[in-house]
Amino acid sequence: MDSRTDNCEVIQLASLGDAFDDQLAKRFRVLPLWQSASPQEALSALGASARVAVTSVRKGLSREQIALMPSLQAVCSWGVGYETLDVSAAVEHGVKISNTPEVLDDCVADLAWALLLTVARQTATGDRYVKGGLWKTIGAFPLSTRVSGKRLGILGMGRIGAAIAQRGTGFSMEVRYNNRRERPESPYQYMASLVELAQWADFLVVACPGGESTRHLVNAEVLDALGPKGFVVNIARGSVIDEQALESALREGRLGGAGLDVLEHEPKMPEAFKSMDQLALMPHVGSATHDTRADMAQLVFDNVVSYMETGRLLTPVAETRD
Ligand code: NAP
Repeated sequence: MDSRTDNCEVIQLASLGDAFDDQLAKRFRVLPLWQSASPQEALSALGASARVAVTSVRKGLSREQIALMPSLQAVCSWGVGYETLDVSAAVEHGVKISNTPEVLDDCVADLAWALLLTVARQTATGDRYVKGGLWKTIGAFPLSTRVSGKRLGILGMGRIGAAIAQRGTGFSMEVRYNNRRERPESPYQYMASLVELAQWADFLVVACPGGESTRHLVNAEVLDALGPKGFVVNIARGSVIDEQALESALREGRLGGAGLDVLEHEPKMPEAFKSMDQLALMPHVGSATHDTRADMAQLVFDNVVSYMETGRLLTPVAETRD
């Protein structure tokens, strides 16, 4: 910690890459808490003057940390989900929160489609089949499932859900969705029951927020409604799917397949997943392209500058909007 951390304006809980860290440190007096061996102590000793905190959905922000920053007015978080930030504590202290919506919609939707196509057309298995020489020794590859023209159900027709749906129309798919509330402006049909949506759909893509309110929304009943020819894809949070129920459904052939970017206890996974060809996995990389990660870091920076200069965040989360 150097002299610029005295009387700091910004507390940085998470590094967002060299370019962002340098840009932030050039513009403001920053306390880089992520460099500290004992962050809580550094926060107690030096956090009193900070008006803005920078964090990420991975690093989060606790009630205890908020209490150690009595001058805190705004939190600029990297990532669109913010279930790891204590929003109630922020509201109680009058602290505003911003996240990084929209800039990642296309990349996350692209990855949902990569997973959907991988499980339906068995592309990861086919890759191993060719590279492992099985094409030469065994011959023809087993038949898979057509995607084009099928029924696409979306759980969570928000920004990312809409980008996934738009790609579905390019595959001539009929799209329906389930939210807590119907979106009158959406061109797709609303279904108030998730079980009925799963019964109707060939592919169910999960794109709602994580956290307690959506925990295990996709349970055994929903997976059974999707059925042995149905597929589930999850790019939201691992907590939304009951992973034990998913494992049983896949093992017993009650579900056709699954594509998961997120796991309930990531990076851990059930042992049985390792040998399942009907399951495609990715290590939580929905937004992880050079392009989108740069855009997300820039949006965090722009939020910090905007708050410092105008007292307003560019992309405030709903709970702390004026
Ligand atoms: P968003 O625009 O806020 O959309 C979320 C949608 O979920 C809304 O339409 C909301 O509608 C619906 N929803 C919320 N609670 C629900 C419930 N209990 N049942 C049914 N629908 C519900 O958010 P977004 O920007 O699209 O992002 C969605 C989520 O994607 C994020 O929260 C994050 O967890 C995840 N994500 C993952 C990655 C990745 O790397 N894999 C990257 C970015 C984001 P109602 O309010 O009407 O219910």
